[in-house]
Amino acid sequence: MPEDRRPDRRGGGGEGLPGLKGYDPVELADRVEARVCRDSERMYYRFRAARFYGGIATGDVMGCNLRCIFCWSMHGWAGRTGRMYTAWEAWEKLRGIARSRGYRRVRLSGGEPTIGFRHLEELIGYADSEGYLFILETNGILIGARREYARRLSAYNNLHVRVSIKACSPEWFHRLTGARPEAWRYQIEALKNLADYGVSHHAAIILGFGDKQCYRSLVEALEEADPGVTAHLEPEVIVMYPSVERRLRAAGLWPTTYARPP
Ligand code: SF4
Repeated sequence: MPEDRRPDRRGGGGEGLPGLKGYDPVELADRVEARVCRDSERMYYRFRAARFYGGIATGDVMGCNLRCIFCWSMHGWAGRTGRMYTAWEAWEKLRGIARSRGYRRVRLSGGEPTIGFRHLEELIGYADSEGYLFILETNGILIGARREYARRLSAYNNLHVRVSIKACSPEWFHRLTGARPEAWRYQIEALKNLADYGVSHHAAIILGFGDKQCYRSLVEALEEADPGVTAHLEPEVIVMYPSVERRLRAAGLWPTTYARPP
């Protein structure tokens, strides 16, 4: 696994929060990968048609390197059994759904798709060669920590990356994910790396945790890392499934905005 981690270069990366500890999501990714990947195979728990993006074939992968308290997908598959798929097998599933529904878009969801990067690259390659748009939804941690990943993603024409920023500050990142606060910076670095390599991308921001000043500082950090990215920010609100509500209440956290389940 390539390692291209760099120390946080500027303030605001959590360096001043010595009292806050947490797991390292880059190291956790390697441990999760050992469980849900085998060579270039990846574990999935289902394939489905989804209404997002005007209709998209979706593969739900297992395994993530964050532990977001508001996650409504990862906790949903806890206890489910998955199955290993080669990239070609996964592609046949996705393409089959896309063809039957008339979609031209495919994506991975459920967990973190950049875990098992070889599998991801192969899969994007199949979609790319057949003219389907691949939407890579990611928490950005590995793309931020491993600049090499952004370079490799730049090889594809029909790829768009959506980086979901989980928190407005290192402190909130730690509170919401349990990860060490310094790792917040990797999400910002992901945008910079994607921009540097000319990969089509945008940022989504989870709303509802932190005050206006915190979100203003986040926007400034994003703009500094990736000039122009804030012109197309996607607001993301958590969906208050009963299990999410229970976890938030137990942690004494409540968002200022959220959506009810459909
Ligand atoms: S990054 Fe996404 S899949 Fe992973 S725990 Fe957070 S919300 Fe869930």
